[in-house]
Amino acid sequence: MCHEHDKHTDRRENLQIAELSGDWTVGALPMLDALSGIRHAVSTRLGPGGANLAWDDPHGPARRQSLGRAIGAVEVAALRQVHGGRVVAAEEALAGPVEADAMFTRREGLAVMGLSADCPIVLAADVQTGAVGMAHASWRSTVARLTYKLVRAMCVECGCKATEIVAGICPSAGPCCYEVGPDTLAAATDGLGAKAGRFFLQRDGHMVFDLWAANVQQMLEAGICRHNIQVAGVCTICDGRFFSVRRDGPRTGRFGAMIARA
Ligand SMILES: [Zn+2]
Repeated sequence: MCHEHDKHTDRRENLQIAELSGDWTVGALPMLDALSGIRHAVSTRLGPGGANLAWDDPHGPARRQSLGRAIGAVEVAALRQVHGGRVVAAEEALAGPVEADAMFTRREGLAVMGLSADCPIVLAADVQTGAVGMAHASWRSTVARLTYKLVRAMCVECGCKATEIVAGICPSAGPCCYEVGPDTLAAATDGLGAKAGRFFLQRDGHMVFDLWAANVQQMLEAGICRHNIQVAGVCTICDGRFFSVRRDGPRTGRFGAMIARA
């Protein structure tokens, strides 16, 4: 059990920028970066060739492998993300395209990667078991409790203790900008119950969905300690270093966030 219910989650910007081999400029969450034997990175548009990692970019697969090598991984697993609540073992995704939004592995050198242009990517790691996990927590996946399901899957399938897991939320649409309509609030109330209302804020006459707070809450409910959770606090709609569908339209590229035991 964690005993820190009176503390608020840190809302400062928590993203350090690093240069990696292969011409990558990436962001990293200090709390994950401090873990022994765990490597992770969030790509920026400053990477090679504009660093679009999307499936529909002809260079996407090669760039994903290049980013994986830059963090010391041998293989990179990516999903056909469908904004749902399904969690799979990363080994499944290596074998062929899998429709899901979260995955985990204990295999050394295998990076689990999510693609985003505003959606929160959650990265998680447990040094004790060597398990790592990724959730593509779009608003629909958030409402499907994907982040909670990922943490529970790491506990059940990998033997992790939730209190040992460290997790972070990568740059994504922030509560400063992520406007939604009443349909989203209704869907969130269906999926998360009446408490969902606390994640919807009024800002300048518009309603925003605080996806960061909603996903932190799921981590806490799954048993992660608040002091083991870090939110990058960087909004992709505000920050031009990251692809953003809200800012640039649906045909924009995708950045990637990956984590591996390496
Ligand atoms: Zn913003």
